[in-house]
Amino acid sequence: SGEDVAVTSRYDVIQKGCFVMTKPVVAIVGRPNVGKSTIFNRIAKKRIAIVEDQPGVTRDRLYAPAEWLGHEFSLIDTGGIEIADTPLMTQIVAQAQIAMEEADVIVFLVSNQEGVTEADEHIARMLYKSDKPILLAVNKADNPEQRQEVYDFYSLGLGDPYPVSGVQGTGLGDLLDAVVAKFPASTPDAAADTIAFSVIGRPNVGKSSLVNAILGEERVIVSNIEGTTRDAIDTAFTDDGTKFTIIDTAGIRKRGKIWENTEKYSVLRAQSAIERSAVVLVVLDAEQGIRDQDKHVAGLAHEAGRGVIIVVNKWDAIHKDTKSMQDFTNAVRAEFQYLDYAPIVFISAKTHQRVNTLPALIKKVAANHDRRIASSVLNDVLLRAVATTPTPTMNGKRLRVYYMTQVRSAPPTFVAFVNNPDLMHFSYQRFLVNQLREAFDFSGTPIIIIPRQRK
Ligand code: GDP
Ligand code: GDP
Repeated sequence: SGEDVAVTSRYDVIQKGCFVMTKPVVAIVGRPNVGKSTIFNRIAKKRIAIVEDQPGVTRDRLYAPAEWLGHEFSLIDTGGIEIADTPLMTQIVAQAQIAMEEADVIVFLVSNQEGVTEADEHIARMLYKSDKPILLAVNKADNPEQRQEVYDFYSLGLGDPYPVSGVQGTGLGDLLDAVVAKFPASTPDAAADTIAFSVIGRPNVGKSSLVNAILGEERVIVSNIEGTTRDAIDTAFTDDGTKFTIIDTAGIRKRGKIWENTEKYSVLRAQSAIERSAVVLVVLDAEQGIRDQDKHVAGLAHEAGRGVIIVVNKWDAIHKDTKSMQDFTNAVRAEFQYLDYAPIVFISAKTHQRVNTLPALIKKVAANHDRRIASSVLNDVLLRAVATTPTPTMNGKRLRVYYMTQVRSAPPTFVAFVNNPDLMHFSYQRFLVNQLREAFDFSGTPIIIIPRQRK
């Protein structure tokens, strides 16, 4: 929709529908059991693990960052989107449609073991209608002989088949070379000077209301009916000279499509928004308290390694006394232990209470998420830490941490060179993380320490 943005109160909306962090999206489609998840897991980057065994924290990975020869992209496994009580073919059709809508490049996966099936032909016919580039990959081509046999698949009319083996990892390099060659030419990077953030949370916590409150205008329809159709798209605004972009989370609801209200599809949309954000606002409902689904949503933000702010909304609606904020804070800390770094803000999207504190906080968390520490300063902190707290021992062997260096930011990632990585317990890693947090402002961002043996 090309309609103009209404005049806003506090903020100057500079752009609507702009795209930030435009990483190409690659979807893997194919009938069940051809090996989509196996291939997905081989290509996808590892995420931050949630060590606690919390109910409601997702283990599903439908959407993941990936990289091949310096080309960053996002990967979708459409096979995980199941629609209850529908025939297999309907599911397959929906998955292919999702791929055609969401992806820039589609990898159509078939299996060498079964040869060309009716379902494969059905998917192929759907993909003909797509204007997206399509690559045909034949999985389970586990040995040279089987790699020679893939010529049957020319009959699908989708060009040269790429023989691959998800189990052995063979052929994936050639396939990925072809995938990245199909990426759209990159657009000038509008993302460089804008802080992209998204607002996530379970239905009805007040995400749309908060987006409206932040923008100070009523473009987004607010309703108390769960799953109401709304037209949310990325919106850029400036605050105090800083450019921000709110990333759409609900997505443009595709009215009438059978998958739009499935749990997995909304997770996919949330993951897609998180992936494009530097900072994620996880919205909770003060009235309703914390539920399992909140943990699920928060887990997605943590695992993606984004900056996180916990926003407790509807603070206007509860009866408060002097302890209310502390009580809610304690509950959040107990339920989201892995998010101990995330600041908590109590707001009301309805009355706008404290909403105007958010842009500055988002800016600060984005800066912390992107922070780089010089090795010399870092090692001063390390020296002090090991001097005051002895390193642990295991079977009579003492851990030695020789030095640390920051290898990445967003999120800050440090390699600790040690005598033996096995001696670096989780609790000692945690101790080092806390030392870093005391020395530098890392509020709102996860910190990763990778122990590595010094050669
Ligand atoms: P999906 O339903 O398409 O996601 O398929 P999965 O990834 O779950 O794989 C289905 C089955 O095929 C599993 O038992 C896998 O171990 C197996 N599989 C996956 N890739 C290969 C492969 O390259 N070679 C062989 N022989 N088996 C594979
Ligand atoms: P979403 O599904 O997370 O986008 O939630 P909505 O923004 O559609 O809000 C759901 C319901 O909560 C609506 O009835 C809103 O009016 C109400 N709501 C949202 N924010 C607040 C708030 O700060 N205080 C109160 N009392 N109600 C709110």
